[in-house]
Amino acid sequence: MRMIILCFLVLLFGCTEKKNGFSVEKIPDPMQHNGYVSNPDHLISDDATARLDKLMADLDAKGTAQVAVVLLKTIGDKVPKDVAHEIFGAWKPGQKEKNNGLVVLLVDDQHRVEFETGYGLEGDLPDIICFRIQQAKMLPFFKQHDYDEGMWEGMNAVADVLNHTDSTDLGVTTEIKPSLPDYIPSRKLPDEGNAILYVVYLAFSRLFAGFVIGKKDKRLVKDPPILYNPGLFSGLWIYIFPALEILAVILFTNYSFQWWSVPLIMYLNWFGYLLYRTIIVNINAKRLLSEENRLQRYTGFKLAHKGLWFTAIIYPIPFYFYYVWNKKRLQNLRNAPYNCDACKNPMVVLSKNEKKKYLSEGQLAEEKIGSVSYDIWSCKTCDTKKILGYDNGSERVSQCPKCTNKTFLKTKRVTVKRPTSRTTGDGLQYYECRYCNYTEKKPFVIGKLSSSSASFGSSSSSSGSSSSSSWGGGSSGGGGAGSSW
Ligand SMILES: [Zn+2]
Ligand SMILES: [Zn+2]
Repeated sequence: MRMIILCFLVLLFGCTEKKNGFSVEKIPDPMQHNGYVSNPDHLISDDATARLDKLMADLDAKGTAQVAVVLLKTIGDKVPKDVAHEIFGAWKPGQKEKNNGLVVLLVDDQHRVEFETGYGLEGDLPDIICFRIQQAKMLPFFKQHDYDEGMWEGMNAVADVLNHTDSTDLGVTTEIKPSLPDYIPSRKLPDEGNAILYVVYLAFSRLFAGFVIGKKDKRLVKDPPILYNPGLFSGLWIYIFPALEILAVILFTNYSFQWWSVPLIMYLNWFGYLLYRTIIVNINAKRLLSEENRLQRYTGFKLAHKGLWFTAIIYPIPFYFYYVWNKKRLQNLRNAPYNCDACKNPMVVLSKNEKKKYLSEGQLAEEKIGSVSYDIWSCKTCDTKKILGYDNGSERVSQCPKCTNKTFLKTKRVTVKRPTSRTTGDGLQYYECRYCNYTEKKPFVIGKLSSSSASFGSSSSSSGSSSSSSWGGGSSGGGGAGSSW
């Protein structure tokens, strides 16, 4: 199972990480020389660099925007949009409070220019405007390999838009000119961070499943009937479906992933499963539980809704309401008055003290360790008693093979032979009856040690970049646009 999941992850995310010589850390940070333009491959002239630096310094000084311009000969086979995003993440241009950073990346060999905007700029500089500036102001020059002029014209247009001195045909209010090609936003897909997140999801889901669903019900006597037993389908839905859902979004839609997209898919996937399970539980209850046997109905519903309170916290809509409704249903099943089987007159439930004299020693022992709790109904007219035992469904206590009370407690576990990565180990589980003191020990097998340290390559590089930059610490909104020529 683990292998299958790993394969999925590798298929899904592994292909995005290809090794090549390029890395964002190698790009010289212009802030180290109080500049804004990184031009390591000399794609534009020193004169153009100086002019652009001045333009950016102006925008920065006014607090309008902090713009990093990066011109690179190549980024290997990386995607320009991803690299622009990484540069943004590494340098963090933009004042922290305003998030008014912008990264402009030109990649010579891919013939591509990308804008990556901070949250704060998305209003003034929406993707469509970025795209129009690229198309109208930059590409005509880039196509003739005049990077000096294209970058200068483009960045002036950006400055005009941000300074609201835009007298050109690029303004927000202008309609799209028919001569411009259709606007195609660049897409963001899940990255390595999402692969790590998936591993976290799997671990968390195992815990959560144990909590809200419980273990597979292996009772031999199926009373009350099992309303839903998690099996292979549950496992697929919980652990594998999110990967398929992400894959489906990648393949069949044009959706651009945000940082919250994958977590949201995971959250909703669990929600879908829990909703499905709840519906099946109630359908099965109709089919399997007897209408009249309130004790069976109560226990059946109770066992099927073990972790419902926790589900209600995580998915208050609709599970909080379902939780309250289910609680009421249980209370009705247990506490609504019975009528006497013999004389049909109403009965009353006995208090804790009164019921002691009607319970056997074994039943009292069960109540004491909490495995079963008893309600005794007594007829006011003919004194007939009705004794109902409510099993709490504990997995720690089972029926004693000797005295048949539900007082057989799992006690200590002893490892006889330790498992290794190649061989299984042996253990002994001790049981002890809290009523008749009968003891037993059963051998069990301890699974092989898994070489489970699933290493997902090098995890994300440390974020503490050493440059003494005065980039403001803005964060990218993932917006922007890219154009090819
Ligand atoms: Zn009676
Ligand atoms: Zn016993």
